[in-house]
Amino acid sequence: MLLKELEKFPPEITSFMRIASKIAGKLGVKIYLVGGIVRDLIIDREIFDYDIVVEGDGIEFTRLIADYLEVDFIKHKTFGTATVYYKNYKIDVATCRKEYYSCWGALPKVTPSSLRDDLYRRDFTINAMAIGLNKDDYGELLDFYNGYNDLKNGLIRVLHDRSFLDDPTRIFRAIRFEKRFGFRIESRTLRLLKQALEEEAIKFVDEHRIRDEIILIFKEDYPPKYIRRIDELMGFSFIDKDLKFDNQDYILFMRIHRAIKFFYQKSLKYHKLQEWLIYLLGITIKLSKEKVEKFCSSFGFRRGEKKILTEIFVQKRIIHSLKREVKIRKIISVLKPMSFEAIVFFYAYFNNKSLNKNILYFLNNLENIKINVRGSDLKALNFKPHKLYGKILEELVYVKLEKNLVTKEEELEEAKKVFKRLIRSYSK
Ligand code: ATP
Repeated sequence: MLLKELEKFPPEITSFMRIASKIAGKLGVKIYLVGGIVRDLIIDREIFDYDIVVEGDGIEFTRLIADYLEVDFIKHKTFGTATVYYKNYKIDVATCRKEYYSCWGALPKVTPSSLRDDLYRRDFTINAMAIGLNKDDYGELLDFYNGYNDLKNGLIRVLHDRSFLDDPTRIFRAIRFEKRFGFRIESRTLRLLKQALEEEAIKFVDEHRIRDEIILIFKEDYPPKYIRRIDELMGFSFIDKDLKFDNQDYILFMRIHRAIKFFYQKSLKYHKLQEWLIYLLGITIKLSKEKVEKFCSSFGFRRGEKKILTEIFVQKRIIHSLKREVKIRKIISVLKPMSFEAIVFFYAYFNNKSLNKNILYFLNNLENIKINVRGSDLKALNFKPHKLYGKILEELVYVKLEKNLVTKEEELEEAKKVFKRLIRSYSK
């Protein structure tokens, strides 16, 4: 089957594929587009990642194409994989491989292999299709495992019975694709998934890999429906054995969703939230601080993420004081030390009229406020070291809000005070 879908590519990618095709011909290797991109092309979904596999030496192929195009490429640690950067696009190249799982949940051993083997090691039939890119099969769909029909029928199906045991993160992936596309986990696959859960396969997976899957789920368009499905199928005991959700919790997840949308529309125009963290807060707020600390360490969250997840417990007590009409100074002193994620979370969590009015005031003004003083003004005042400038200007935003400064002169006066304060704590 010739896929006219390839015509949907941006012209730069089309020319990349044509060049790749020629180089593959010269090198005597077969190359294919694989995985999610083939699926998304067929269902006409926007493409973000371009994945090519090579039957043969993927690294040598990447080197030749990067040389030809005079662009950079990165060779990865993972067996035979590399990335080429071409005109704002990222194209991942891999060598076709076969995988062997020595035990449940462990990372597989890999050997170079054929396209058929490479597709067989994949999670679901809808992700196990390829499109030929060589001269003789350019645009031809290769579908050894009936992925096309499953895609048309909206079915998530594993390729073999051991799939969830080999890699239990596929349980999360099954839920993600099911909910994203409004598909159904095919009945045998669902049985295998439940069996793997009964055998507690999740316990054998490195928690960092579970973290990555959870983050991906919380980055989907409407996470509450995914959370409900995880809860229904397996619960959240992989985070904590006592975690249970009731209707109130689901209402919170929905409010979080609404709050995020609302803030992007209304106030946070220049600030990008880590939305997934706000949903995670909706879960971890049900635990104790000690448990969350442990969870963050074993799942390997970054320092900044851990800070947001653990500081919420103290902040939850402090923010109570904003549940009434208060002075601007108070609003700033309470909200300024908090992350935007925590602030949006509290907006949804308490759903309290006065608190939300104060939060809105804070975010609206912060985002819209303009400082007249520039780095060059600070330089003219001979402030040193220069690395304090960012901090001074940031601090000035709050002072401007608090004291309602209007003119540049007023700002400069305040900048001097801020500088003195900062330099004092800097030299301590
Ligand atoms: P998304 O649209 O979320 O990026 P994707 O299908 O492109 O989905 P990736 O995580 O980018 O997903 O993976 C690319 C391809 O690699 C998948 O389509 C699938 O074929 C394969 N794959 C990824 N993770 C697994 C896994 N855990 N087990 C087997 N195959 C996997």
